Amino acid sequence: EAKRNGRNRFEYFTEQMGELAAKRRMIENDLREAISCRQLKLYYQPITNNQHQHIIGYEALMRWHHPEKGMIMPMDFIPIAEETGLIHSLGAYALHEACREAASWQDGQSVAVNLSPMQFKNSALVSVVEAALKESGLAPHRLEVEITESVLLDNTSVNIDILQKLKALGVRIALDDFGTGYSSLSYLRSFPFDKIKIDKSFINDMKDSREALAIIRAITGMSRSLDIQITAEGVESNEQFERLKEEGCTLFQGYYFGRPQPSEDRLKEF
Ligand code: C2E
Ligand code: MG
Ligand code: MG
Ligand code: MG
Repeated sequence: EAKRNGRNRFEYFTEQMGELAAKRRMIENDLREAISCRQLKLYYQPITNNQHQHIIGYEALMRWHHPEKGMIMPMDFIPIAEETGLIHSLGAYALHEACREAASWQDGQSVAVNLSPMQFKNSALVSVVEAALKESGLAPHRLEVEITESVLLDNTSVNIDILQKLKALGVRIALDDFGTGYSSLSYLRSFPFDKIKIDKSFINDMKDSREALAIIRAITGMSRSLDIQITAEGVESNEQFERLKEEGCTLFQGYYFGRPQPSEDRLKEF
């Protein structure tokens, strides 16, 4: 204890940084192995329309079943995968796996896969999507990709070109986490998105925050004139569901309808 008090704040700070760096290195090493050892698994969360329990598709969300640490959530490994470049193999894995599993679904539901902005830096992205569709036999209209607005922020024309090629394959494109980041409405003019997903923070805040509700209204109002579907993320109660319906949201996703589940458990909740 005396020893600890004797040290200055900077030493303490650098020690913490060292621990953080070590933790990152460990995750990085383990993640390499996780990809080859199939410890990464996609969980599927239902997306419903305004008829409450009518499922129109699923979002694929990555989970890491670590042999010692148990389940690790995306926020604890996706950023590291992005920093280290591992996101390219992880992303290709997600596309192949989601298409393969969705192709086996008897009910013909569609699947949405998250793409990292980093994946747009690799010119192979379009051919990876094409290969995933071809190998699985999944009809392209059953695949949706979710991107965030940062994809439109830099390398705009190159990235829009990639989005157009994906769309030409027949894949649908959704703009995820809308309302966070820069959220310029002009993004919606730069590419014909099929869907906009309102970030769950707005759904969470809408009851107590007039600003959150005003933003939800602005997005749904605009979507009506642009003919874009609006998904509300993070819907946790019937009260939120009813309110969001009134505000003009057309699609819904959240714990109220179902949690992310492995493919084999997908239909058990309903
Ligand atoms: P996202 O794409 O916005 O996904 C929605 C997140 O909200 C998911 O978190 C989901 O589990 C969570 N969620 C859904 N309903 C509710 C609810 O009612 N309440 C609350 N509090 N949360 C809800 P998750 O699975 O932890 O994923 C976090 C983020 O990690 C995702 O956000 C996505 O950006 C990223 N991610 C997940 N899987 C992948 C992947 O395969 N590739 C890439 N590049 N990113 C992924
Ligand atoms: Mg998403
Ligand atoms: Mg989202
Ligand atoms: Mg989100």
